[in-house]
Amino acid sequence: MAGMLYLVPTPIGNLSDISVRCRKTLEQADFIAAEDTRVTLKLLNYLEIKKPLVSYYEHNKLESGPKIVRRIQEGETCVLVSDAGSPAISDPGEDLVRLCAEAGIPVCAIPGPCAVITALSISGLPTGRFCFEGFLSINKKSRQEHLAGLQNERRTMIFYEAPHKLLATLKDLANAFGTDRRVSLCRELTKLHEEVVRTTLGEAVVRYTENAPRGEFVVVVEGAQEAPVEAITLDAGAALVRAEMEKGLSKKDAVKLVAKQTGLPRNALYEAALQDEN
Ligand code: SAM
Repeated sequence: MAGMLYLVPTPIGNLSDISVRCRKTLEQADFIAAEDTRVTLKLLNYLEIKKPLVSYYEHNKLESGPKIVRRIQEGETCVLVSDAGSPAISDPGEDLVRLCAEAGIPVCAIPGPCAVITALSISGLPTGRFCFEGFLSINKKSRQEHLAGLQNERRTMIFYEAPHKLLATLKDLANAFGTDRRVSLCRELTKLHEEVVRTTLGEAVVRYTENAPRGEFVVVVEGAQEAPVEAITLDAGAALVRAEMEKGLSKKDAVKLVAKQTGLPRNALYEAALQDEN
Protein backbone atom coordinates (compact mmCIF):
# COMPACT_ATOMS: atom_id res chain seq x y z
CA MET A 1 0.00 0.00 0.00
CA ALA A 2 1.22 3.51 -0.87
CA GLY A 3 2.26 5.76 2.00
CA MET A 4 1.45 9.40 2.36
CA LEU A 5 2.92 12.89 2.14
CA TYR A 6 2.40 15.26 5.06
CA LEU A 7 3.13 19.00 4.83
CA VAL A 8 4.24 20.12 8.28
CA PRO A 9 4.59 23.87 8.99
CA THR A 10 7.43 24.84 11.30
CA PRO A 11 7.86 27.95 13.51
CA ILE A 12 8.71 31.27 11.79
CA GLY A 13 10.58 32.39 14.89
CA ASN A 14 9.08 31.14 18.12
CA LEU A 15 9.84 27.43 18.61
CA SER A 16 6.83 27.00 20.90
CA ASP A 17 4.61 27.50 17.86
CA ILE A 18 5.14 23.88 16.81
CA SER A 19 1.79 22.17 17.37
CA VAL A 20 1.10 18.86 19.08
CA ARG A 21 -0.15 17.43 15.79
CA CYS A 22 2.96 18.58 13.89
CA ARG A 23 5.17 17.02 16.52
CA LYS A 24 3.29 13.71 16.39
CA THR A 25 3.42 13.66 12.61
CA LEU A 26 7.17 14.23 12.64
CA GLU A 27 7.55 11.42 15.21
CA GLN A 28 5.52 9.00 13.10
CA ALA A 29 7.17 9.76 9.74
CA ASP A 30 9.45 7.22 8.06
CA PHE A 31 11.57 10.04 6.71
CA ILE A 32 11.60 13.84 6.47
CA ALA A 33 12.24 15.82 3.30
CA ALA A 34 13.77 19.16 4.30
CA GLU A 35 14.74 22.35 2.48
CA ASP A 36 17.96 22.63 4.51
CA THR A 37 18.71 19.52 6.55
CA ARG A 38 20.92 21.50 8.97
CA VAL A 39 18.07 23.88 9.85
CA THR A 40 15.62 21.01 10.30
CA LEU A 41 18.10 19.05 12.41
CA LYS A 42 18.15 21.93 14.91
CA LEU A 43 14.35 21.77 15.19
CA LEU A 44 14.40 17.97 15.54
CA ASN A 45 17.04 18.21 18.27
CA TYR A 46 14.87 20.75 20.11
CA LEU A 47 11.92 18.33 19.82
CA GLU A 48 14.16 15.33 20.67
CA ILE A 49 13.12 13.52 17.51
CA LYS A 50 15.50 11.38 15.45
CA LYS A 51 14.51 10.68 11.83
CA PRO A 52 16.26 10.08 8.53
CA LEU A 53 16.44 13.30 6.51
CA VAL A 54 16.63 13.79 2.75
CA SER A 55 17.14 17.15 1.13
CA TYR A 56 14.51 18.67 -1.16
CA TYR A 57 15.14 22.23 -2.30
CA GLU A 58 14.86 24.47 -5.35
CA HIS A 59 18.06 23.27 -7.04
CA ASN A 60 17.72 19.50 -6.50
CA LYS A 61 13.95 19.11 -6.70
CA LEU A 62 13.99 17.62 -10.19
CA GLU A 63 16.08 14.61 -9.04
CA SER A 64 14.96 14.49 -5.44
CA GLY A 65 11.19 14.76 -6.10
CA PRO A 66 10.75 11.52 -8.09
CA LYS A 67 12.93 9.61 -5.53
CA ILE A 68 10.67 10.78 -2.71
CA VAL A 69 7.56 9.82 -4.70
CA ARG A 70 8.99 6.31 -5.30
CA ARG A 71 9.65 5.79 -1.60
CA ILE A 72 6.10 6.87 -0.75
CA GLN A 73 4.71 4.53 -3.42
CA GLU A 74 6.64 1.72 -1.75
CA GLY A 75 4.73 2.42 1.46
CA GLU A 76 6.78 5.00 3.38
CA THR A 77 5.31 8.08 5.03
CA CYS A 78 7.15 11.32 4.23
CA VAL A 79 6.93 14.65 6.03
CA LEU A 80 7.91 17.71 4.02
CA VAL A 81 9.22 20.73 5.94
CA SER A 82 10.81 23.98 4.84
CA ASP A 83 13.24 26.16 6.81
CA ALA A 84 10.37 28.06 8.43
CA GLY A 85 6.63 28.42 7.93
CA SER A 86 4.29 26.53 5.65
CA PRO A 87 5.92 24.34 3.01
CA ALA A 88 4.84 25.11 -0.57
CA ILE A 89 4.11 28.81 0.14
CA SER A 90 7.01 30.65 -1.55
CA ASP A 91 9.00 27.59 -0.55
CA PRO A 92 9.93 24.31 -2.22
CA GLY A 93 7.00 21.94 -2.02
CA GLU A 94 4.55 23.02 -4.68
CA ASP A 95 6.16 20.64 -7.19
CA LEU A 96 6.33 17.72 -4.77
CA VAL A 97 2.63 18.12 -3.97
CA ARG A 98 1.85 18.12 -7.71
CA LEU A 99 4.00 15.00 -8.30
CA CYS A 100 2.26 13.16 -5.46
CA ALA A 101 -1.20 14.26 -6.61
CA GLU A 102 -0.43 13.04 -10.13
CA ALA A 103 0.75 9.70 -8.74
CA GLY A 104 -2.46 9.32 -6.72
CA ILE A 105 -0.60 9.65 -3.41
CA PRO A 106 -2.68 11.18 -0.59
CA VAL A 107 -1.33 14.53 0.64
CA CYS A 108 -2.24 15.97 4.02
CA ALA A 109 -1.46 19.62 4.87
CA ILE A 110 -1.35 20.38 8.59
CA PRO A 111 -2.23 24.00 9.43
CA GLY A 112 0.31 26.09 11.32
CA PRO A 113 2.74 29.01 11.19
CA CYS A 114 2.67 30.97 7.95
CA ALA A 115 4.22 34.43 7.59
CA VAL A 116 1.64 35.75 5.11
CA ILE A 117 -1.37 35.02 7.33
CA THR A 118 0.35 36.15 10.53
CA ALA A 119 1.26 39.47 8.87
CA LEU A 120 -2.15 40.04 7.33
CA SER A 121 -3.96 39.46 10.58
CA ILE A 122 -1.77 41.94 12.50
CA SER A 123 -1.55 44.53 9.68
CA GLY A 124 -4.60 46.59 10.62
CA LEU A 125 -5.52 46.70 6.92
CA PRO A 126 -8.70 45.12 5.49
CA THR A 127 -8.49 41.32 5.68
CA GLY A 128 -11.78 40.39 4.01
CA ARG A 129 -10.26 40.13 0.56
CA PHE A 130 -6.52 39.87 -0.03
CA CYS A 131 -4.01 38.58 -2.55
CA PHE A 132 -0.62 37.07 -1.85
CA GLU A 133 2.05 38.24 -4.31
CA GLY A 134 5.05 36.40 -2.84
CA PHE A 135 8.51 37.70 -3.79
CA LEU A 136 8.74 40.25 -6.60
CA SER A 137 11.06 39.31 -9.44
CA ILE A 138 14.61 40.66 -9.25
CA ASN A 139 14.36 41.43 -12.96
CA LYS A 140 13.53 45.16 -13.20
CA LYS A 141 11.26 44.87 -16.23
CA SER A 142 9.13 41.96 -14.98
CA ARG A 143 8.96 43.60 -11.56
CA GLN A 144 7.61 46.82 -13.07
CA GLU A 145 5.14 44.91 -15.24
CA HIS A 146 3.96 42.96 -12.21
CA LEU A 147 3.39 46.16 -10.21
CA ALA A 148 1.73 47.93 -13.15
CA GLY A 149 -0.72 45.01 -13.30
CA LEU A 150 -1.55 45.60 -9.61
CA GLN A 151 -2.26 49.33 -9.86
CA ASN A 152 -6.02 48.91 -9.74
CA GLU A 153 -5.99 45.94 -7.36
CA ARG A 154 -8.58 46.65 -4.68
CA ARG A 155 -7.69 43.76 -2.39
CA THR A 156 -5.03 44.07 0.31
CA MET A 157 -1.73 42.87 -1.23
CA ILE A 158 0.96 40.92 0.61
CA PHE A 159 4.61 40.68 -0.45
CA TYR A 160 7.56 38.77 0.96
CA GLU A 161 10.91 40.53 0.83
CA ALA A 162 14.50 40.06 1.96
CA PRO A 163 15.82 42.93 4.16
CA HIS A 164 18.58 44.00 1.73
CA LYS A 165 16.01 44.45 -1.05
CA LEU A 166 13.28 46.05 1.08
CA LEU A 167 14.12 49.71 0.41
CA ALA A 168 14.25 49.25 -3.38
CA THR A 169 10.96 47.36 -3.22
CA LEU A 170 9.30 50.11 -1.16
CA LYS A 171 10.46 52.70 -3.72
CA ASP A 172 8.99 50.60 -6.55
CA LEU A 173 5.74 50.15 -4.61
CA ALA A 174 5.54 53.92 -3.96
CA ASN A 175 6.12 54.62 -7.67
CA ALA A 176 3.44 52.16 -8.69
CA PHE A 177 0.78 52.91 -6.05
CA GLY A 178 1.60 56.46 -4.87
CA THR A 179 3.33 57.68 -1.71
CA ASP A 180 0.05 58.06 0.25
CA ARG A 181 -0.93 54.39 0.00
CA ARG A 182 -1.05 52.75 3.45
CA VAL A 183 1.38 49.95 4.21
CA SER A 184 2.09 47.73 7.22
CA LEU A 185 5.65 46.49 7.57
CA CYS A 186 5.59 43.33 9.69
CA ARG A 187 9.05 42.53 10.95
CA GLU A 188 10.48 39.58 12.88
CA LEU A 189 7.04 38.09 13.52
CA THR A 190 6.80 35.83 16.58
CA LYS A 191 10.41 36.75 17.53
CA LEU A 192 11.83 38.84 20.34
CA HIS A 193 12.00 42.01 18.22
CA GLU A 194 8.62 41.64 16.55
CA GLU A 195 7.47 45.01 15.21
CA VAL A 196 4.63 46.27 13.03
CA VAL A 197 5.08 49.68 11.42
CA ARG A 198 1.76 51.00 10.07
CA THR A 199 2.52 53.94 7.81
CA THR A 200 2.40 55.12 4.17
CA LEU A 201 4.68 53.99 1.34
CA GLY A 202 6.27 57.48 1.16
CA GLU A 203 7.02 57.55 4.90
CA ALA A 204 8.31 53.97 4.81
CA VAL A 205 10.85 54.95 2.12
CA VAL A 206 12.09 57.82 4.32
CA ARG A 207 12.21 55.60 7.42
CA TYR A 208 14.30 52.83 5.85
CA THR A 209 16.55 55.28 3.97
CA GLU A 210 17.51 56.70 7.37
CA ASN A 211 17.78 53.29 9.11
CA ALA A 212 18.69 50.24 7.04
CA PRO A 213 16.07 47.47 7.49
CA ARG A 214 17.11 44.44 9.52
CA GLY A 215 15.39 41.10 10.05
CA GLU A 216 12.63 39.41 8.11
CA PHE A 217 9.76 41.43 6.64
CA VAL A 218 6.31 40.92 5.23
CA VAL A 219 4.96 43.97 3.41
CA VAL A 220 1.18 44.39 3.51
CA VAL A 221 -0.15 47.08 1.17
CA GLU A 222 -3.63 48.60 1.17
CA GLY A 223 -5.64 47.98 -2.02
CA ALA A 224 -6.61 50.76 -4.43
CA GLN A 225 -9.62 52.85 -3.47
CA GLU A 226 -12.74 52.67 -5.61
CA ALA A 227 -12.58 55.39 -8.31
CA PRO A 228 -14.88 58.26 -7.24
CA VAL A 229 -18.06 58.43 -9.32
CA GLU A 230 -17.90 61.54 -11.51
CA ALA A 231 -20.65 64.04 -10.75
CA ILE A 232 -23.19 63.74 -13.51
CA THR A 233 -25.89 66.25 -14.57
CA LEU A 234 -29.59 65.41 -14.79
CA ASP A 235 -29.49 65.97 -18.56
CA ALA A 236 -26.67 63.43 -18.93
CA GLY A 237 -28.64 61.07 -16.67
CA ALA A 238 -31.72 61.45 -18.86
CA ALA A 239 -29.59 60.60 -21.90
CA LEU A 240 -28.45 57.40 -20.15
CA VAL A 241 -32.10 56.53 -19.40
CA ARG A 242 -32.92 56.98 -23.10
CA ALA A 243 -30.02 54.74 -24.10
CA GLU A 244 -31.23 52.00 -21.72
CA MET A 245 -34.79 52.31 -23.10
CA GLU A 246 -33.44 51.94 -26.64
CA LYS A 247 -31.80 48.71 -25.48
CA GLY A 248 -35.25 47.46 -24.45
CA LEU A 249 -35.74 48.44 -20.77
CA SER A 250 -39.01 49.99 -19.64
CA LYS A 251 -38.76 53.63 -18.51
CA LYS A 252 -39.26 52.60 -14.90
CA ASP A 253 -36.46 50.01 -15.02
CA ALA A 254 -34.15 52.32 -16.97
CA VAL A 255 -34.61 55.08 -14.38
CA LYS A 256 -34.00 52.60 -11.56
CA LEU A 257 -30.79 51.34 -13.15
CA VAL A 258 -29.37 54.77 -14.01
CA ALA A 259 -30.27 56.13 -10.57
CA LYS A 260 -28.29 53.26 -9.05
CA GLN A 261 -25.33 53.77 -11.39
CA THR A 262 -25.10 57.56 -11.01
CA GLY A 263 -26.52 58.26 -7.58
CA LEU A 264 -29.01 60.74 -9.13
CA PRO A 265 -32.40 60.88 -7.37
CA ARG A 266 -34.98 58.64 -9.06
CA ASN A 267 -37.83 61.18 -9.17
CA ALA A 268 -35.72 63.96 -10.68
CA LEU A 269 -34.32 61.54 -13.23
CA TYR A 270 -37.83 60.43 -14.15
CA GLU A 271 -38.93 64.06 -14.61
CA ALA A 272 -35.89 64.86 -16.74
CA ALA A 273 -36.52 61.80 -18.90
CA LEU A 274 -40.19 62.85 -19.30
CA GLN A 275 -39.19 66.38 -20.39
CA ASP A 276 -36.79 64.85 -22.86
CA GLU A 277 -39.69 63.09 -24.54
CA ASN A 278 -41.69 66.32 -24.96
N1 SAM B 1 6.78 29.39 3.57
C1 SAM B 1 7.04 30.44 4.51
C2 SAM B 1 5.70 30.93 5.07
O1 SAM B 1 4.77 31.05 4.26
O2 SAM B 1 5.62 31.21 6.23
C3 SAM B 1 7.77 31.60 3.86
C4 SAM B 1 9.10 31.29 3.31
S1 SAM B 1 9.81 32.53 2.37
C5 SAM B 1 11.18 31.68 1.68
C6 SAM B 1 10.61 33.56 3.52
C7 SAM B 1 9.94 34.95 3.64
O3 SAM B 1 8.84 34.88 4.54
C8 SAM B 1 10.85 36.00 4.22
O4 SAM B 1 11.66 36.61 3.22
C9 SAM B 1 9.87 36.99 4.83
O5 SAM B 1 9.33 37.84 3.83
C10 SAM B 1 8.77 36.05 5.31
N2 SAM B 1 8.99 35.66 6.72
C11 SAM B 1 9.32 34.44 7.20
N3 SAM B 1 9.41 34.47 8.55
C12 SAM B 1 9.12 35.73 8.93
C13 SAM B 1 9.04 36.39 10.20
N4 SAM B 1 9.29 35.75 11.35
N5 SAM B 1 8.71 37.71 10.21
C14 SAM B 1 8.48 38.37 9.08
N6 SAM B 1 8.54 37.80 7.86
C15 SAM B 1 8.85 36.50 7.78
